[in-house]
Amino acid sequence: SAPNSLAARDIAYTVHGYTNLRQHEEQGPLVITGGEGVWVSDDEGKKYLEGLAGLWCSSLGFSEKRLVEAARRQLERMPYTHTFSHRSSEPVIELSEKLVQMAPASVTKAFLMNSGSEANDTAIKLIWYYNNARGKPEKKRIIARRRAYHGITLAAGHLTGLPYARAGFDLPMSDRFFHVTAPSWYREGLPGESEEEFSTRLANEVDTLIRSLGADTVAAFVAEPVMGAGGVVVPPKGYFEKVQAVLKKHDVLFVADEVINGFYRTGNTWGCDTYNIQPDILTCAKQLSASYLPISAVLMSQDFYEVIADFSAKHGNLGMGYTYGGHPVAAAVALETLKIYEEDKTGEHVRAVSPHFQKRLAQLADHPLVGEARGVGLIGAIELVRDKKTREPFEVSAKVAPQVTGRCLAHGLILRPLPGDAVGICPPLIITEAEIDQLFDRLTAALDDVAGVLPK
Ligand code: PLP
Repeated sequence: SAPNSLAARDIAYTVHGYTNLRQHEEQGPLVITGGEGVWVSDDEGKKYLEGLAGLWCSSLGFSEKRLVEAARRQLERMPYTHTFSHRSSEPVIELSEKLVQMAPASVTKAFLMNSGSEANDTAIKLIWYYNNARGKPEKKRIIARRRAYHGITLAAGHLTGLPYARAGFDLPMSDRFFHVTAPSWYREGLPGESEEEFSTRLANEVDTLIRSLGADTVAAFVAEPVMGAGGVVVPPKGYFEKVQAVLKKHDVLFVADEVINGFYRTGNTWGCDTYNIQPDILTCAKQLSASYLPISAVLMSQDFYEVIADFSAKHGNLGMGYTYGGHPVAAAVALETLKIYEEDKTGEHVRAVSPHFQKRLAQLADHPLVGEARGVGLIGAIELVRDKKTREPFEVSAKVAPQVTGRCLAHGLILRPLPGDAVGICPPLIITEAEIDQLFDRLTAALDDVAGVLPK
């Protein structure tokens, strides 16, 4: 890159998360400078359809003036106050009320913070606090699923079951966090095993693990309704019903990570609605503010709240909170986002266009590189395989999914390679049917390009 160009200065000064830093020094950044609807453009003026909505988050696209206005109004009126020591602000109060109204019926309280990682970390700490308060200090272990992505702070990083997010960090709390099989029937199902049988086997695995650890040591099970960054794993039939029955039997809480699923991604307000999950705790972020500003929330039931409230009184205070938790400008933008969802009937829009999205996605299963095409609502993935019949994967070193997403970029489409040689698709919720066609036409062209150069 030219000396002193944006790219050269990025390489000189910027550290990038989830990036091979040595490769970055060679390759440089993709600098995004503008956005309009579901489209973004780079510093050379090339336009791309943002097929992953940034990181599964830019639900309203990149030019929603109402969110700009909401931020500006709040910045002018009162740019900052906090929520410690009884302090509050109007946007925080209105947003909390609105979230409780939208949440599953059991939820009565919202606790605000800044990111999905913080929300999951906070949920874990609050559950430990809750079980201490209930006189069950041994009940602290947490079960998550392999492949799941729940964030990267210390507790959330332990929940995350992806090797690439754990490697090199020597995560120390190995006696607190456990992982069970990801519910991918395509990858994990046994020969001849039906979808329901697979669900039963996975629920039994959770039951066996809880029994072997001792139910009095297991506090919670954490899961996304549809696993997102782990490869868009859609749960098999009966999976959550069976798992929830196991958890109930052992007094183990269900934490629903709605960071990607939440706010209509699967067609309903929550992924929990789509899969008939009754969560004890729900975490959300990303589409909560259409990602115009960072904000997240932990939603809890009155029963849970009562226990931690008593304990906070005993200790003098809750002992948890963030300088920017309930930032008034982020809260105002989130509140406006939820109003837009309501007024623009975003849920209805997703339900109207998602059959077309899912039809185009399903058609990709006929492509020679695609082993499985899976999805629900406006989220999906294709899994790439060497042999469609035997499901034999490509060698990881062949980097086939990154080749496909690389060709997508050339065709003006941004998608993301996911673990398990998958390519994730998760466009802004405002996408039209015509844009869905553009997305899949470009992805098909990219798949054809890669199929044409792979050794036979
Ligand atoms: N949970 C899920 C399901 C996610 O997909 C993510 C991020 O992609 C997180 C939690 C972590 O959120 P953040 O990156 O805002 O910390």
